[in-house]
Amino acid sequence: MQTYDLIQKTRRLEPLTADEIAFLVQGFTAGEIPDYMMSAWLMAVCCQGLSVEETTALTLAMRDSGQCLDLSGIHATTIDKHSTGGIGDKTTLLVAPIVAACGGFVPKMSGRGLGFTGGTIDKLESIPGFRTDLSEEEFLDTTRKVGCCVIAQSGNLTPADKKMYALRNLTATVDSIPLICASIMSKKLALGADCILLDVKYGSGAFMKTPQDAETLAKLMVDVGKQAGKSCRAMITDMNAPLGMAVGNALEVEEVLRMLRGEVRNSLTDLATALAAQMLTMAGKGDIIFCRKQAEQALENGEALERFRRMIDAQGGDTRVCDYPELLPQAKVKKTVLAKSRGFISGIQSEEVGLACLSLGAGRTAGNPVIDPGAGVQFHKTVGDFVKQGDVLCTVCGKSSALVEEAIIRLNAAITVKEAPPVQNAMIYKIIE
Ligand code: URA
Repeated sequence: MQTYDLIQKTRRLEPLTADEIAFLVQGFTAGEIPDYMMSAWLMAVCCQGLSVEETTALTLAMRDSGQCLDLSGIHATTIDKHSTGGIGDKTTLLVAPIVAACGGFVPKMSGRGLGFTGGTIDKLESIPGFRTDLSEEEFLDTTRKVGCCVIAQSGNLTPADKKMYALRNLTATVDSIPLICASIMSKKLALGADCILLDVKYGSGAFMKTPQDAETLAKLMVDVGKQAGKSCRAMITDMNAPLGMAVGNALEVEEVLRMLRGEVRNSLTDLATALAAQMLTMAGKGDIIFCRKQAEQALENGEALERFRRMIDAQGGDTRVCDYPELLPQAKVKKTVLAKSRGFISGIQSEEVGLACLSLGAGRTAGNPVIDPGAGVQFHKTVGDFVKQGDVLCTVCGKSSALVEEAIIRLNAAITVKEAPPVQNAMIYKIIE
């Protein structure tokens, strides 16, 4: 088998066999296929696409490039959830304890931030003492006892994805639907949960800009998951405006805690309970109406907060944040942004908010790999709200006045106020079963 021939086949839209795809993945992971040849193949995939069969073969070869976890020690149906990422997306932190409080088991491996703000792991690490580097035994034990556990992805899982993602980042081949599908699903399959719920986002702050592209990606991921023998569903959800009212690591954990404490409720609450209900249904805990009620009750009666507290405790974190969320890291400088005119907030451009948070230090850049946990934006108004001139739209949090002022320029451009109320998208566009 020659790599050159395989590149040419994909370029000419001739299908590759599973063996040919495994040859590429194994050869590249082992360092036998050089970057320039893999880049050429990735670009051919980007331009010509792959069939469902080829994408499945790619996903399985990437899964098998490293360790696969054995979750049988949890002795229960396990449920994983993945979001394709968005601005202010802290749903895992809500969904995992809600599902656990309703009798489900959520062993979750998450990533650090790839984009504008930190990932789930960075958010959790803003809780003083919280450990995300548990051993496999601790991970299984905590999931079994608490019902949920969230750790950083182990270094032995899907090494092919790590190498391929780094190359895709350098060669403008990230936004290819089969490559995104294989990258995400290989990690989900290596974790090995019985059920996988995918939250596929579309909009200005998401990989997929339109609901149609999100649906194509969602259908492909569900197909690949099913081919691999998993129970798999996807929800396609809106990411045109930031999710919830906080963007930034500690700010997002604070929003989650206040929601679990019953102090705030917004569109994020509805999304989290909808996701939790789907996960519980997939795990056989009842029909969707019953599971939705269970999820809402767990949030209202404080059981989800108790699960979160137990998870923080099991992972070495300071559980006092559950009672005093203000103990989370705070920014040195905070400044409010005021409405310049009267009207309805018609849009909050999530990509711009993400860039503002990145410049504040809430995410990693090549020049600044260290996250500032207190940095970010706390919104006080959201899309559809009526504001008067001088009303506080948001508070910008950062390390210095210069960083905060720079972010304010972006935020002023990101928030639009119009005379007429906006037409708003439903949060959930479609469910793919
Ligand atoms: N997230 C991933 O893990 N991989 C991709 O390719 C895109 C988003």
